[in-house]
Amino acid sequence: MPALPPIVAALRSALPADRVLTDPALTAGYAHDEAEWAPHGTPSVVVRPRDTAEVAAAVKAAAELRVPVVPRGAGTGLSGGANAVDGCVLLSLEAMRAIVRIDPAERLAVVQPGVVNDELRAAAAGHGLWYPPDPASAPWSTIGGNVATNAGGLCCVKYGVTRDYVLALEVVTADGEVVRLGRRTAKGVAGYDLVGLLVGSEGTLAVITEVTVRLRPLRTAPTRTVVGFFDTLARVGEAVANVTAAGLQPAIFELIDRHCLRAVEEWKHMSLPDDAAALLLAQSDLPGPAGEAEAAAILAEFTKAGARDAVASTDEVEAEALFDARRLAYPALEQRGDAILTEDVCLPRGKLATMLARVEEIGARHRVLIANVAHAGDGNLHPLMITPTGDEDARRRSQAAFEEIVDAAIDLGGTVTGEHGVGLLKRRGMRRELGPGAIRLHRAVKAAWDPADILNPGKVLG
Ligand SMILES: Cc1cc2nc3c(=O)[nH]c(=O)nc-3n(C[C@H](O)[C@H](O)[C@H](O)COP(=O)(O)OP(=O)(O)OC[C@H]3O[C@@H](n4cnc5c(N)ncnc54)[C@H](O)[C@@H]3O)c2cc1C
Repeated sequence: MPALPPIVAALRSALPADRVLTDPALTAGYAHDEAEWAPHGTPSVVVRPRDTAEVAAAVKAAAELRVPVVPRGAGTGLSGGANAVDGCVLLSLEAMRAIVRIDPAERLAVVQPGVVNDELRAAAAGHGLWYPPDPASAPWSTIGGNVATNAGGLCCVKYGVTRDYVLALEVVTADGEVVRLGRRTAKGVAGYDLVGLLVGSEGTLAVITEVTVRLRPLRTAPTRTVVGFFDTLARVGEAVANVTAAGLQPAIFELIDRHCLRAVEEWKHMSLPDDAAALLLAQSDLPGPAGEAEAAAILAEFTKAGARDAVASTDEVEAEALFDARRLAYPALEQRGDAILTEDVCLPRGKLATMLARVEEIGARHRVLIANVAHAGDGNLHPLMITPTGDEDARRRSQAAFEEIVDAAIDLGGTVTGEHGVGLLKRRGMRRELGPGAIRLHRAVKAAWDPADILNPGKVLG
């Protein structure tokens, strides 16, 4: 029998036996996230700690032996951020799943990082409170992963992204020390904003072991949903720009194109329309007449932009079916068996129409079918490159289209990633977007937190 790597022996002596997995049949499932095109290695070992002390012990053992540590939540990431590097300790936080405390008086929750987003929302609702950041992966993705990627979601257009809700963190640093950052008060400016730095750091600076988030009062007013059917993506872009320019602030403002609607319909049989190029879904959550007026104003902007058909409705069941279709777009395309390369660029909202036209042109030139979903109100576009599995030529063409979309976003004043993170897939784009001065500062920050480059090496900065 081959000798066990020293890191396995060290972890076995530091942790209870059931926390340390080495059976390749089990560890293989932890080797990569949902970005199926990003490369990944093979972990030496998967560690599933139950508390902060166990995380610290695992990181300390790895640091002493100079073995890389790759933190992982649920593995729903779409940039390869949680992908294993060869020989690493894959540190899965999924078993740290306790909701430590919900404090209705202070309107905050304290949770372990493996708590699933929807679980936190449900627990908060039990206290009449609401945790707004709602990535479409909310039924599976973890709060730790959401914090590490600064996840956005459907409600973020009005209520902000994960960063806007994180008050405090407990983290384990690269040498295994436990450190508390941030505060639990409504205000506070003591020291640099290290919580802000950690949010979106993609596991490259520290391992997040506890998260304190701000909560809002639960919304109770009935919502109104406006649906607009458009024959061209250009008109969709125009409608988004018009709604924004008119100063309207829908609580959700999403785009689904006909490829996605068709895929969801084939899978779930929800009687979804599929004869328009795309539909826009906007929701007003203002109470009473203000909500009625907002919905009417959005409807007017859709019509002005040339919607073929647009309607405002208070039917929450019907609206929820359409929002479900939005959330299911990616899994629906995926379950057809094609390979999907997911883009995530964010544009100034006024440039969305131009960008959608560029995406169409890029797809046609590279002969790649590109479907689109978007958090339209944020200008956050997810072109989905669909490639028959095993078709290497189509795969190369999709990758070329992916990089051109990244460049087009930068050229139009946008950013290479709105919410999925840099991981492995956006490293070139990030370098181009930020420029050498900012990259130098990033490297200095990484060196200060993780001088031996133990934590998630190769991600973000490369
Ligand atoms: C169907 C689908 C829909 C999606 N919709 C959205 C969306 O609307 N908005 C959005 O923002 N994203 C979306 N995503 C992407 C993904 O769900 C998010 O990036 C999510 O935040 C990842 O959470 P996770 O628990 O799966 O983390 P993972 O994928 O496991 O990890 C993501 C990154 O965080 C790091 N990490 C994880 N946990 C920790 C920790 N405790 N400490 C330090 N680092 C850690 C990992 O190293 C990695 O770099 C979607 C993905 C899918 C598959």
